[in-house]
Amino acid sequence: LTEAHCGTDLGLLRTKATLNNDGTYNISGAKIFITSGEHDLAENIIHTVLARLPDAPPGIKGISLFLVPKFLVNSDHTLGQRNAVHCGSIEEKMGIKASSTCVMNFDNATGYLIGELNQGMQAMFSMMNLERLNIGIEGIGLAEVSYQNAVNYAKDRLQSRALTGIKFPEKAADPIIVHPDVRRMLLTMKAYIEGGRALSVWAAMQADMAEHHEDEKTRELCNNLIALVTPVIKAFFTDFGSEACNLGLQVLGGHGYIKEWGMEQFVRDARIAQIYEGTNGIQALDLVRRKLVMNEGMFLNQLIDVMVEYISHHQTENELAEFIQPFEDKLKDLREISQWIINAAKTDPNIIGSSSTDYLRLLGLVLLAFMWVKTVEVSLKKSAPFYQAKIKTARFYFQKLLPQIECLKQTIKAGSQVLMDLDTDTF
Ligand SMILES: Cc1cc2nc3c(=O)[nH]c(=O)nc-3n(C[C@H](O)[C@H](O)[C@H](O)COP(=O)(O)OP(=O)(O)OC[C@H]3O[C@@H](n4cnc5c(N)ncnc54)[C@H](O)[C@@H]3O)c2cc1C
Repeated sequence: LTEAHCGTDLGLLRTKATLNNDGTYNISGAKIFITSGEHDLAENIIHTVLARLPDAPPGIKGISLFLVPKFLVNSDHTLGQRNAVHCGSIEEKMGIKASSTCVMNFDNATGYLIGELNQGMQAMFSMMNLERLNIGIEGIGLAEVSYQNAVNYAKDRLQSRALTGIKFPEKAADPIIVHPDVRRMLLTMKAYIEGGRALSVWAAMQADMAEHHEDEKTRELCNNLIALVTPVIKAFFTDFGSEACNLGLQVLGGHGYIKEWGMEQFVRDARIAQIYEGTNGIQALDLVRRKLVMNEGMFLNQLIDVMVEYISHHQTENELAEFIQPFEDKLKDLREISQWIINAAKTDPNIIGSSSTDYLRLLGLVLLAFMWVKTVEVSLKKSAPFYQAKIKTARFYFQKLLPQIECLKQTIKAGSQVLMDLDTDTF
């Protein structure tokens, strides 16, 4: 299954559809950047293609979604005639070289309407929303493989002595994992990956409940929560995924930059996840415009209620206080800055775009803090080293990563003018 919608500006869509007598459609035009557009790994390839009928309304209100198979399928389900959809060329990419990204040409190919006419965007979004979550997981996956390689290397590579004195006298030098700055890199990767993994499981639970919970109100709540966190999972996870792959490369020093070790490939592969399925900038706009400002913070308040309820259940647990207290503080920051954006956007529409990327990161950091508190709550009841490591990683997260929120609040409040002042000609 491929998706052929392509790019942010769907209003300029050039693929055309015309209706045939038998109820099928003729699809013509070209699409660039189609992941797995052509290959021989499967017996058939099904393209979902957005196209416009000649009499369709302008803009995205006139876009319909079509299914265009590489091979038409006979009534007895066997493969039939080759459809008029062909790969024009393969894109030369920075990374993900094992994935064929194609220019696809549709030359009066047979297509079948999916859903209602002119409702293509809505239909495509049900696929894209799932894909956005999947791409977030791609970010974690690449961060994890980079982390595993970096940890192995850091335990093995000998360089200098620990700042506190020799740790391994039998060796010519200490392994680099004794150095605080190397630990900073590894722990940053670990804290984002494990917090992110917990959040992806939490989000998957919300998605399941949104569909299957017996109570309608709970279904609605979960739907809103998943709508709110989807752009965060896509953009925050792929941003820290890319950041983590770069840190992993850095842990290997010069060897990280040499192809033989494979670390540079993770950096190249992770980069696309910040771009496709809607750039992270567009995810941030979706979050602030559609999920925050347009509903006056309703989804956000529902999420905050969930977190406040959790805090009130665990407020008296002494051992958890070290985490609950700063979490509660950051929740106040989140509430305050969200309201600031909602108010400021009423008089200055540029506030939405000037705050969006910072706000998405801020919300991502608070969500990960929530996951880390929950993780600590479970880990405190166990003694195995695995759980002790969780508590120590949570402590690192709270003390070294979560304070980014202070800076993000400040940059959001700096507003939009400083971005818009410079004349286009003077860039
Ligand atoms: C390897 C690869 C595989 C792909 N696979 C597929 C696929 O299978 N199917 C498919 O349909 N597409 C696919 N794409 C396309 C991909 O989804 C788009 O390239 C991506 O969504 C960005 O769109 P664009 O290239 O048009 O960028 P543009 O929309 O031109 O964006 C350029 C820059 O401007 C910013 N920007 C744009 N509009 C705004 C705005 N309103 N406000 C603020 N900032 C803005 C963006 O964030 C970005 O930084 C693929 C692309 C690549 C590179």
